[in-house]
Amino acid sequence: MVKQYDYIAIGGGSGGIASINRAGMHGAKGALIEGNAIGGTCVNVGCVPKKIMWHGAQMMDEMNLYASGYGIDIPSKNLNFAKLVENRETFIERLHGSYQNGLASNEVDLIHGYAKFVDNKTVEVNGEQYTADHILIATGGKPVFPDIPGAEYGLDSDGFFEMTELPKRTAVVGAGYIAVELAGVLHGLGSDTHLFVRQHAPLRNFDSIIVEGLVETMEREGATLHTYAVPEKVEKNEDGSLTLYLKDGTAHETDAVIWAIGREPNTDSLNLAATDVAVNDGGYIKVDEFQNTSVKGIYAVGDVTGHIELTPVAIAAGRRLSERLFNNKPMEHLDYNNVPTVVFTHPPIGTVGMTEEQAVDVYGKAQIKTYETRFTAMHSSITENRQKTYMKLVCCGPEEKVVGLHGMGSGMDEMLQGFAVAIKMGATKADFDDTVAIHPTGAEEFVTMR
Ligand code: FAD
Ligand code: NAD
Repeated sequence: MVKQYDYIAIGGGSGGIASINRAGMHGAKGALIEGNAIGGTCVNVGCVPKKIMWHGAQMMDEMNLYASGYGIDIPSKNLNFAKLVENRETFIERLHGSYQNGLASNEVDLIHGYAKFVDNKTVEVNGEQYTADHILIATGGKPVFPDIPGAEYGLDSDGFFEMTELPKRTAVVGAGYIAVELAGVLHGLGSDTHLFVRQHAPLRNFDSIIVEGLVETMEREGATLHTYAVPEKVEKNEDGSLTLYLKDGTAHETDAVIWAIGREPNTDSLNLAATDVAVNDGGYIKVDEFQNTSVKGIYAVGDVTGHIELTPVAIAAGRRLSERLFNNKPMEHLDYNNVPTVVFTHPPIGTVGMTEEQAVDVYGKAQIKTYETRFTAMHSSITENRQKTYMKLVCCGPEEKVVGLHGMGSGMDEMLQGFAVAIKMGATKADFDDTVAIHPTGAEEFVTMR
């Protein structure tokens, strides 16, 4: 017998949970199918454990780099890595409970197992079949391994979160969010960390002031950066250590290699071949602005669509989809412009809107005016390690509409959200100037730049 629902969401991560709960709030009878732990990437092997580790590394920085400048003597700065991991996982267990409660309160059935399509209307889990007028694919993504000899000796980001001992030495390979975040955490916690990037810098698609800030900060107080470093192979040595060989003929001995070279969509288990759902060249599910796939009644949100791979984006797209389907709001959809994002480096990076380079491409050089500042964060002004903050506003046209805001510095992660509201509302430089500063903060520089 095929069990019937109003709505089925495949994938119990950020997008699937948000969408099925919102549908339940509007009275739809929903089922959520999850093959692994509830919460998906973000909760189990992404944002949440990463942010806990980031806080740990920030605390180590406070003790190692700043405490003595404030006259504080901390004799023992020993890290019990296993304890940190244990506490982190206990916290995640609590989150699992609260997600399950949320589903129960919206009367969503949680089905454990991997769903595969039987046809455009039916999915199968553990031999049982389920159907619904509306089916959401929210199966996220997974890390990729490089295709080089010895790659299996390395770990991906999922493997990083399984570590119970801090390696003495770590080589992180990659130049994106995950690479710089994990390298920062490992370095901050005390592993001798080296970051290997294939080109001139990490995060090279970010605004130039961010790339400048990241490279300068890493040089002063971060992991050791290796540029133009293309991995060729990894070998395991007799003492258990690893050697990472690069294409330029150099070799680097380490205790752990972490691959952070990108992610791919999680569609293998879905048997999409039984449907008419179209995917693009990278295997991501093709959707229109309303998250419709090529099949009526099948939708997709989140990382599996390859469109801004962030938790709040998956959540927002999933909720808006349910508003459209189950709350009579036919035009509801997510606007993917001006999505703010933070990279949890040390200090963090915040960015919203266009980079200067993108704005010049879109509007022409004559239309773009930028404002920049670099200064020592007050927090570190009386300490030996003087940490710089970098900020830039990208403004467009005679009215100087702020089309991009970029910063790296202490507190940038918490600063960004409010500025993102202003930019989403179309604020101009004059609006920024008109706002009275909060003193003494780093954020005030965004409203006092000349
Ligand atoms: P996911 O959260 O990946 O959920 C998909 C779920 O589908 C998984 O639980 C999977 O088990 C399940 N699944 C797959 N196939 C099937 C199937 N056939 N049947 C049933 N279930 C299935 N984003 C941020 O905004 N901030 C951050 O700080 C941040 N940090 C990150 C750090 C790391 C290390 C990583 C890897 C990602 C990070 N992200 C961050 C990105 C964020 O985690 C993702 O954008 C988000 O989780 C995407 O949500 P989703 O619902 O699309 O997919
Ligand atoms: P990414 O696509 O951002 O970065 C992958 C990097 O690996 C690229 O710089 C690429 O040049 C490099 N690379 C690719 N192949 C390589 C190879 N063979 N050898 C060496 N380097 C190689 O991917 P990611 O870091 O895996 O992150 C995926 C997405 O997850 C991000 O785009 C982001 O949306 C999301 N994320 C967000 C946060 C956050 O919000 N703070 C944190 C982590 C991840």
